Amino acid sequence: MSQIYEQMALDGLVDLKMTKAAEVLDSITQQAAANEWSYSHFLGRLIESEQQFRLEKNITMAYKMAKFPYLKSIEDFDFKAQESVDRKVIDELATGRYVEEGRCIALIGPPGVGKTHLAIAIAKLTCDKGRRVYFTTAVDMVRKLNKAMHENRLHRALQMMTHPSVLVIDEVGYLELSKSEASLMFQVICKRYDFGSPIILTSNKPFSQWGDIFANDPVMASAALDRLLHKSTVINIKGDSYRLKEKRKAGGQIMNG
Ligand code: ADP
Ligand code: MG
Repeated sequence: MSQIYEQMALDGLVDLKMTKAAEVLDSITQQAAANEWSYSHFLGRLIESEQQFRLEKNITMAYKMAKFPYLKSIEDFDFKAQESVDRKVIDELATGRYVEEGRCIALIGPPGVGKTHLAIAIAKLTCDKGRRVYFTTAVDMVRKLNKAMHENRLHRALQMMTHPSVLVIDEVGYLELSKSEASLMFQVICKRYDFGSPIILTSNKPFSQWGDIFANDPVMASAALDRLLHKSTVINIKGDSYRLKEKRKAGGQIMNG
């Protein structure tokens, strides 16, 4: 008789698309019998396994949608090797409060000092909290928008950059933008500012040189900076490239300087 109910439970879970619960039903039933669990204890364990599975699946999906080039975490960051980064500031950003406050984050510094690493680590924690994140480099973003503009679908393409709770724009200023590219980037910054949705950006250029980034248009550059810095946490990172330092420590040869 109990076999009939076991099969009904299994079919029901599959029918309700609770695939993880269906998968572990047999083993949890056996554990419950062996340990004389109460009915509610059994049910709690079964539901917990399904919830845990869905949570992990959602997070994996969120990372995929965020288009992170790779995953990095704050735990992987060696704060001792990078004294210009205050751990307390990063820990505060890790709470995700910046999203509710619409506070932008700017990581500024020379190549190899961990700007992208920290941007990904902070954005990944934001994903873990169930927020939508989208990662792009500045160049990829403006190329995508430019193409969309020529194909009469700019509106939809802009939504990709403006709808996520957090937009990471990596490598702002590595390449100078044309007038129309600069104006597309400006549109993204304005729209996100109006929505109160933060941007995390990394740049090798100090703000004083942002005129160059915005097609030598100092008015557009300062209007963009006004919005980005209105509410912001700016992290200036100094020092040598982490990789080169590690290489030197290991006694490796550095070619071409
Ligand atoms: P940037 O974006 O500033 O050019 P990256 O974030 O790409 O630099 O860092 C270059 C490499 O060095 C990455 O693999 C990154 O994980 C690593 N890295 C940089 N700084 C640190 C650090 N303080 N601790 C651990 N890894 C670091
Ligand atoms: Mg980088």
